[in-house]
Amino acid sequence: MSNISTASMDALKFIVGDQGYRDHLALELLDPGFHKDNLQADLALLPQTTEHVAEILKYCYENDIAIVPQGGRSGLAGGCTSRSGQVIVMTDKLDRIVEIDPHERIAIVEAGVTLQALQDALEKYDLSVGIDLGARGTATIGGMVATNAGGMEAFRYGSMRQRIVGLTAVLPDGKILKDMPRVAKCNEGYDIKQLFCGAEGTLGIITSVILQLESSSSYATTMLAACPNAKAAVKIFRHLQNTCELELLRGEIMWREYAHKVADKISLKQVLNFCDSPFYVLYEVSPRITNIELDEMLAESLMPLMESGDVFDLIVASSERERDEIWRIREDSFVIDHGLDTSLWYDVSVPLSQLDNYAEQLQQQLILLDTDINAYIMGHLGDGNLHMTIGADKPLRAEIQNAISAAVEAGLKSIGGSFSAEHGIGTDKRKSLQAYGDPEKLKLMKLIKKAFDPKGLMNPGKII
Ligand SMILES: Cc1cc2nc3c(=O)[nH]c(=O)nc-3n(C[C@H](O)[C@H](O)[C@H](O)COP(=O)(O)OP(=O)(O)OC[C@H]3O[C@@H](n4cnc5c(N)ncnc54)[C@H](O)[C@@H]3O)c2cc1C
Repeated sequence: MSNISTASMDALKFIVGDQGYRDHLALELLDPGFHKDNLQADLALLPQTTEHVAEILKYCYENDIAIVPQGGRSGLAGGCTSRSGQVIVMTDKLDRIVEIDPHERIAIVEAGVTLQALQDALEKYDLSVGIDLGARGTATIGGMVATNAGGMEAFRYGSMRQRIVGLTAVLPDGKILKDMPRVAKCNEGYDIKQLFCGAEGTLGIITSVILQLESSSSYATTMLAACPNAKAAVKIFRHLQNTCELELLRGEIMWREYAHKVADKISLKQVLNFCDSPFYVLYEVSPRITNIELDEMLAESLMPLMESGDVFDLIVASSERERDEIWRIREDSFVIDHGLDTSLWYDVSVPLSQLDNYAEQLQQQLILLDTDINAYIMGHLGDGNLHMTIGADKPLRAEIQNAISAAVEAGLKSIGGSFSAEHGIGTDKRKSLQAYGDPEKLKLMKLIKKAFDPKGLMNPGKII
């Protein structure tokens, strides 16, 4: 039995037409994505235009109906969860790439365009979104703006916040905010569109954006370096960044326990046979100069770091299959979570100079809690952005789970890190935000939320 009246359901369905909604039964057949409660609402609407979204939100505002925006449902912080009495607005049909201008180097896209679709469309122009992440096939541009997604190239071009130059959004009362300059420089007072970055759908629904584009690197060499510690990994990272013949495209760090566990689970143990090492780092580089013998150049360039012991050993992918195998060890992280009785997932930022200390101290605290707890750590090296699965092959009591979260998060603020790096707050990290957020900032966040959404109807229960 729905908590929304039949009259309201009918009025909302009427706005989007027969093909534009999914009722409760249809939602049960759909993949909920990364949170089992994503599709608990009574109705999902699939508007085709910004005006549709505006009509839906106006109706919901006037009738006190709560809205949950959803893109690809690949978000990892519980930002899309819904329940009976709420209406989901899905952006699946807002999927047009409106314009790609290779000279201005901008793309105008609707919110429901997936990252992969845009990447594919940009290929013929040798251009890139300047951002990439594992969920590229499902994550939408709107969802990525809403979570301020980062990913593997954030150390080069920033997160979504740095990628957007324009944005259109529908406000909770149905009014349309259109802030769509095609230029990066636009100092016209408060930059309201930036508030939608990382707002996780709590201030309104993004319907289209203008993105800044970057040159793409068509040829990349992938290598896996074995090294003694994170300090050495950063040293190699900086060395590659400072090598003028090269462009460093990616740097992904994996602690030994993580790399070996994933390699074992996906039957790629042989990839790590070249060296049993405390750390593995995937570096991807592209030559800045054509006609360069990249393998030779790399071997020569990294020789001093091998002699100093910062690089134990190194393999360079010599085929697409080898490249793919190295990347799978980095990207198939979820095989670890699926194999554990208790698994807790964290996404934190740690200053680069503190990576070794932070991880060592964390391991010590975990051993004191329970010797059966393991931490599997990897992440985007350039940003000090660590993704961690911490868990055990047995159930862990709630007090122990809370103590694990405290061990991961409590010390981060004092060293200049963050308990929430790139996945957002959603429902999962609300308590952490209250615990570690600056009190004045939290007050301002509540005021901003109130100013945009006085009735509290936009994605309630998320962030604050
Ligand atoms: C395998 C895998 C790898 C990943 N790697 C990365 C990574 O490297 N870096 C990273 O940052 N993230 C990563 N993620 C997380 C996820 O892909 C990102 O958070 C992504 O930005 C979510 O996009 P989405 O379209 O799926 O959004 P959803 O999951 O649908 O929604 C996320 C949040 O945004 C809101 N929202 C969605 N669309 C809109 C809209 N149009 N207007 C307003 N609010 C909206 C939702 O209400 C929700 O709060 C990964 C996820 C997976 C599964």
